[in-house]
Amino acid sequence: MAADLKDYQSKRDFDRTPEPRAGLRAGSPRHVRFVIQKHRARHLHYDMRLEREGVLRSWAIPKEPPLVSGVKRLAVATEDHPLGYEEFEGEIPEGNYGAGTVEIWDRGSYLPVEWKEELIVFEVNAGKMSGTFCLVKLKPKEKDDKNWLFFKKQEERGRP
Ligand code: MN
Repeated sequence: MAADLKDYQSKRDFDRTPEPRAGLRAGSPRHVRFVIQKHRARHLHYDMRLEREGVLRSWAIPKEPPLVSGVKRLAVATEDHPLGYEEFEGEIPEGNYGAGTVEIWDRGSYLPVEWKEELIVFEVNAGKMSGTFCLVKLKPKEKDDKNWLFFKKQEERGRP
């Protein structure tokens, strides 16, 4: 969040006021855009994008994303994409960056539970993916390292 919005945010309880939350678009509730695009480029991969502070934060996942807990996937951070890209499907012509076909593999919304430099926990509500997921930076001390581990959190049992 932009530093100059901290006062705005701290003075309000966004569960109780309809005013827009800082960093989210007006009218958007706590859940924000989530998409995974299957990208048949030189190597097949899955691009996961999470709306955050006016952009889509992005990770490329070389294997099918984890649908159940116990499956761990590498997720490589890539450049932010503009809002609206979550609707893109089609052919990126030969000779262009990412040439190949893009199709929406899963789409919905997510709720950020924790968003830190080296750890992101979020609840996904989409077609294929649902539940709590974690992104953990593999080398948190190396600022520029782009490798994260992506997995579904174990369901908590025995809760009333
Ligand atoms: Mn891609």
